[in-house]
Amino acid sequence: MTGDVDRILIPRERIADRIRELGEEISNGLASLLKGEEENEVVLVPVLTGSVIFLADLIRQLPHKVRIHMVTVSSYPGRSTTSQGAGIVGRIPEDLRDKHTLIVDDILDSGATLRLLRAEIERQSPRSLQACVLLRKKTDAAMRTPCEYVGFDIPNEFVIGYGLDYDGLYRNLPDIGVLKPQAMRDAVPINPT
Ligand code: 5GP
Ligand code: MG
Repeated sequence: MTGDVDRILIPRERIADRIRELGEEISNGLASLLKGEEENEVVLVPVLTGSVIFLADLIRQLPHKVRIHMVTVSSYPGRSTTSQGAGIVGRIPEDLRDKHTLIVDDILDSGATLRLLRAEIERQSPRSLQACVLLRKKTDAAMRTPCEYVGFDIPNEFVIGYGLDYDGLYRNLPDIGVLKPQAMRDAVPINPT
């Protein structure tokens, strides 16, 4: 599996360091939102499946009472490496009314996923709504998409590892990297751009 990796973009140690910092940034941000409130409960809305490893590391940096309401959003089915438009699969988390809510995703690309989720969650009148992504691509669309917490800004390349997949594989790589072209030679983008 590691033989398919062309190069490592972000090694595991840098990921771990940055997630510790993100935990502090989120805690500080929430502290100002929670000021004066007795409850310090936060509902995380992780986007399956790519965010699971990030989520596991991030929640352990948060000192709050944390609940987890998973959501599945599909945008890169199978071997496509360009977004095919975001759609919620199954049910959107409910009962977010009056809750401090934080969307957690692996990577911000076109922004379709975050826009869709924010709109759906806003309808439930949460007390606050913020978003956190581990990675953000340096594209106009990504940079224009509101996101309160960003781990790393990365070049506009298709990345795998640390939860991110290509055709369902490579999520278990501990580092974030780029695949060799031959590992992706079967890629057939439905909508090549
Ligand atoms: P957006 O909706 O912002 O276009 O894309 C967000 C989703 O697309 C992410 O949650 C992720 O599932 C997928 N995605 C975007 N860029 C990449 C990438 O470079 N690698 C992988 N594996 N998935 C990506
Ligand atoms: Mg995703």
